[in-house]
Amino acid sequence: LVTRRGSAAPAHDRLLGGLLADGVDEISCHSRYQSASYRRRAGRQPSRYLVSKLRRHEALQRRCGPGTAAYSHAQEQLRSGKRSHAGAGSPACKYLVSISYRGLGNRILAAASAFLYAVLTDRVLLVDPSNEMDELFCEPFPGTTWVLPPDFPLTSYTNFSIATAESHANMVRNKVISTADVVQELPAFAYIHLDHDATGQDKQFYCDEDQRVLRDIQWLVMRTDSYIVPGLFLVMAFQEELAMLFPEPDTVFHHLGRYLFHPNNHVWGLVARYHDAYLAAAHQKVGIQVRVFGREPNSPELLEQITTCAQKEGLLPELHTAGPPAAITPPPAPPRRSKAVLVTSLKGWYYDQLKSMYWEHATVTGEAVGVHQPSHEEYQHFGAKSHDTKAWAEIYLLSLTDVLVTSSSSTFGYVAQGLGGLTPWVMFKPDNGSVVPNPPCGRDVSMEPCFHAPAFYDCRIKEGADPSKILPQVKHCKDVGWGLKLV
Ligand code: GDP
Repeated sequence: LVTRRGSAAPAHDRLLGGLLADGVDEISCHSRYQSASYRRRAGRQPSRYLVSKLRRHEALQRRCGPGTAAYSHAQEQLRSGKRSHAGAGSPACKYLVSISYRGLGNRILAAASAFLYAVLTDRVLLVDPSNEMDELFCEPFPGTTWVLPPDFPLTSYTNFSIATAESHANMVRNKVISTADVVQELPAFAYIHLDHDATGQDKQFYCDEDQRVLRDIQWLVMRTDSYIVPGLFLVMAFQEELAMLFPEPDTVFHHLGRYLFHPNNHVWGLVARYHDAYLAAAHQKVGIQVRVFGREPNSPELLEQITTCAQKEGLLPELHTAGPPAAITPPPAPPRRSKAVLVTSLKGWYYDQLKSMYWEHATVTGEAVGVHQPSHEEYQHFGAKSHDTKAWAEIYLLSLTDVLVTSSSSTFGYVAQGLGGLTPWVMFKPDNGSVVPNPPCGRDVSMEPCFHAPAFYDCRIKEGADPSKILPQVKHCKDVGWGLKLV
């Protein structure tokens, strides 16, 4: 096979080691099977157990999903608010409605987390279509839809919050349900509140006792903006299954993300055209994610942090800033090695500066460096489709690079690194905004996203504890000290 650069290379595995089911109509979703050919590295291999579990889960989604008799029946149960007896066994079809909100990175991480929870508990995953979750991606499950239908009986579910009486925490507090192993009636649904303001009681979701009672409730509605997966690893009832699904725990989002999130044809057009025009020909593609906020002034310190990081780590060549370059290094014979730098940022200033630097000065290695930035939206828009479309295309383009520098604590960067299978260099947040951190960046401990809102609690002894001391595969993040990530 001939690669996009014309050199011999192993065949691209369009099904990603069996992660993707074969036979889905390619016209409806070009990215699904084409994206592998845009990546130079094959990515990590899923376990055979994960592959077979995904096929079984797809069958569940088809058997119980919207449009089936089972779905109509379950919807009717919910509409009537009928309580059921625990111990009568789990309903044949159970559901998890995932409410994703905030920025696109947050939404993607929330949906991936909800999917893993759905897989672990044999629930059909349905995503809330508000916030463009129905528009940016192809359907992930062949032959059915993951979009929650508009006639969902809980009409105000998008307003569910910490105060909702049916939240699992409030129902436990008000003794509507009990986490003790007792015979009890169960409500038709429970709301799981895992937002940043979640209380200790909400976070008992990560305890086995709470999972036992939630197991038999037919409908769960979950709101989170986080990557809660490290929390799921702390539930003992899930640990054996997780170990079989993910013998390499640092690949959870890498697999789930590549399985679930396929850019729709419009977004894929943006990705593919940009990649082919500006990135494909380079010997190396370098991604630099510069997460800035609308009102922040352009920061020469941050620019210095970016260049020092990239040059110190050998990702970008240093520049001849004094004397005629030819006197120091003879120009290499063509073809020169080339680097394409993809900058993503809400602002254009950092890209402008980098581009000028590499135009105005020769590199000490003689490499040609091209700098590119697809858009600069200036500030974060909410609920604007074309804005989200660009954000998704840029996250995806970053994931196609060979090496990646990210900004700390950004879910935008987390998604890119996970999809790409890239362990990034993370730029540390300066303690004092005006001083460039030393070192400016460091290699992350894994490609997994960081869970920003974990529970510091050991369910077994019912006391505060540091979860990184409980499980060897759960560690603190480099970029968010209190956060947790899988390694
Ligand atoms: P986080 O806030 O960094 O964790 O990332 P999110 O993706 O959750 O939210 C940030 C949002 O701001 C994105 O979804 C975009 O809407 C916008 N945004 C931030 N940085 C960029 C960028 O580099 N390019 C584009 N197109 N949008 C961005």
